[in-house]
Amino acid sequence: MNRVYNFSAGPAVLPEEVLKQCAEEMMDYQGSGMSVMEMSHRGKVYDAIIKEAEKDLRELMGIPEDYAVLFLQGGASTQFAMIPMNLMKNRKAAYIVTGQWAKKAAAEASKYGEAVVVASSADKTFSYIPDCSDLDIPEDADYVYICENNTIYGTEFKELPNTKGHILVSDISSCFLSRPMDVTKYGLLYGGVQKNVGPAGVTIVIIRKDLIREDVLEGTPTMLTYKTHADAGSLYNTPPCWNIYVCGLVFKWLKKQGGLEVMAKKNQEKAKILYDFLDQSKLFKGTVEPKDRSLMNVPFVTGNDELDKQFVKEAEAEGLVSLKGHRSVGGMRASIYNAMPKEGVEKLVAFMKKFEEAHAEEANNA
Ligand SMILES: *Cc1c(COP(=O)(O)O)cnc(C)c1O
Repeated sequence: MNRVYNFSAGPAVLPEEVLKQCAEEMMDYQGSGMSVMEMSHRGKVYDAIIKEAEKDLRELMGIPEDYAVLFLQGGASTQFAMIPMNLMKNRKAAYIVTGQWAKKAAAEASKYGEAVVVASSADKTFSYIPDCSDLDIPEDADYVYICENNTIYGTEFKELPNTKGHILVSDISSCFLSRPMDVTKYGLLYGGVQKNVGPAGVTIVIIRKDLIREDVLEGTPTMLTYKTHADAGSLYNTPPCWNIYVCGLVFKWLKKQGGLEVMAKKNQEKAKILYDFLDQSKLFKGTVEPKDRSLMNVPFVTGNDELDKQFVKEAEAEGLVSLKGHRSVGGMRASIYNAMPKEGVEKLVAFMKKFEEAHAEEANNA
């Protein structure tokens, strides 16, 4: 077996301990004589798995009782529609556009009502987070929407926007469980789990219970109504059983690490190694405003497309894989989620140094 250091933005690296446990329990889950993949979602054994996963997530994030936790399908992208369908009572919401995912969410919402863009960083290719301390938010906006960590561009909100009393809705797909968050500051938080939590196929929605309503927009499908899933404990229909089970194992792993305070510290340490190197490098440059840098996704460039390509290729030969930047940005991107060990980041920086030395001439010309 030859495991690589996987810097993919998602699906992404999972803790080895968790993968081993999945393998061990694959044929016979805790004496049930079957795999979690094979068992009824209505049975006692599975009921314990999903309940325990929810309990552990609540503990990790400090989710209060007046919030529901929903395990849904359709990826984070389905939430782009589900959020307006369920929350756009006045058919108006405020969107802060800090990247492709927020832009897509706003475009989708505009099918159901008015998606007012109250701030954007499109003017500088989403390389910063706009000042959101005093935005012009329409009085009758049903919510204010953000994408809290911009996976593609590598920026992250360090401070939540001043919503002026409106509900805050946040896409936390790529910063989910990377640090503590005060759930009470939000009306709804959600994320596809394939970035920092588990295998693709689950979207976790954390929603304040008073926002779970029956009077959703006309024509909203049953499956796209939060109430359907909240009333059924995420078991209205067959959930992605095995994927939820793996998320549950990741929650246990995070608890064993010491919880989210400890993870935040580790993630800061890892990010610092990479950003400190970028700040003094003569060849590589970070692409975003330093104050808005993401803890999880670190884009960088050499300024020369050919050299970028060569770097990605040579890194791969060293077992440092999936470093190619998103197609809309180019260059490189290292995603350094919870399960990426510090050694992985150290190896990457060591290789970047080596590459820089080998290309000192190009660096001097740049
Ligand atoms: C990946 C990603 C999405 C899209 O997720 P899917 O599950 O593929 O729909 C949305 N938002 C953010 C921030 C992401 O990183």
